[in-house]
Amino acid sequence: MVVVMKPGASDDDVRQVVEKIQSHGMDAHVSRGKETTIIGVIGDEREIDFDSLGALPHVDRAMPVLKPFKYVSREVCPQDRTVNVEGVEIGKDLVFIAGPCSVEDEDTTLRIAEQVRQAGAAIFRAGAYKPRTSPWSFQGLREKGLQILANVKREIGLPICTEIIDTADIETVGKHTDVYQVGMRNMRNYALLSKLGKTRKPVLLKRGDSATLNEWLAAADYIVRNGNENVILCERGIRTFETYTRNTLDLNAVVGAKIESCLPVLADPSHGTGKANMVPAASKASIAAGADGLMLEVHVEPAEAWSDAAQTITPQELEDIVETCKKLREL
Ligand code: PEP
Ligand code: MN
Repeated sequence: MVVVMKPGASDDDVRQVVEKIQSHGMDAHVSRGKETTIIGVIGDEREIDFDSLGALPHVDRAMPVLKPFKYVSREVCPQDRTVNVEGVEIGKDLVFIAGPCSVEDEDTTLRIAEQVRQAGAAIFRAGAYKPRTSPWSFQGLREKGLQILANVKREIGLPICTEIIDTADIETVGKHTDVYQVGMRNMRNYALLSKLGKTRKPVLLKRGDSATLNEWLAAADYIVRNGNENVILCERGIRTFETYTRNTLDLNAVVGAKIESCLPVLADPSHGTGKANMVPAASKASIAAGADGLMLEVHVEPAEAWSDAAQTITPQELEDIVETCKKLREL
């Protein structure tokens, strides 16, 4: 951390800051310039709240030099990490996680699962607990939905990825899923992230729609610092001034997450665009940008989907995307 004093700060003002730093077990290196004094904090800056230094009189600002995340950073974890989901090596194999937005009736859900499997998906997705913006929208089939997912796994053989929205459901959902999905609304639910860190099951962490890259990676650190290294990142679009699309799929974040962290990074062009006719191009762009795979909303009859119909593609479209993306990955 670097502390910049206000112009004209006296020796006493500087001493006050140095003493505060030392009281946290760290050393201070004072560099007195003609107009400004700068104090370098030597030691683990995470031991001290930089806001409390910034609030001292005659301190102009206190700036961290370390990143807000550690365990998932390239410094601590230089090698790319892979996450194994029932034999699927996410980060190594190009992976497609596909299925409807919500778990629907058993017959439809099984038909979708069979067709996405044939189209090349390695993991089935569908939400049993739906965190909807309006409390009046369909909230998911909940435990009945989990039961249907268990049947999909048994009948179709695909591993399951489904969303967890409440710490109280970790055990119940964990019995029926192979990957816990943390959605964009819960990326900042640090109690949920910490508890998922105590499990060993893979966690797919979607980026919050207003989260910076650093905030997203710091959220991943909440899971890893509690002991669970099996984290998969998923860029799903952010809010911008653009209204043509539901969200703006941020391909910079795919590239940035690969540069800054060792975790596998997926992209979700379905939520990232909100428009089925944009999903194929956004899928290809994501793989070209270095994504390790895609999460896609797919339905046998997209117009009939119980949620997110406008962004849902057909199994045939999924198959075309899989074929093209495999070639792009090779390139
Ligand atoms: C979803 O995957 O259906 C979902 C709700 O995603 P997000 O959290 O990215 O909005
Ligand atoms: Mn959805």
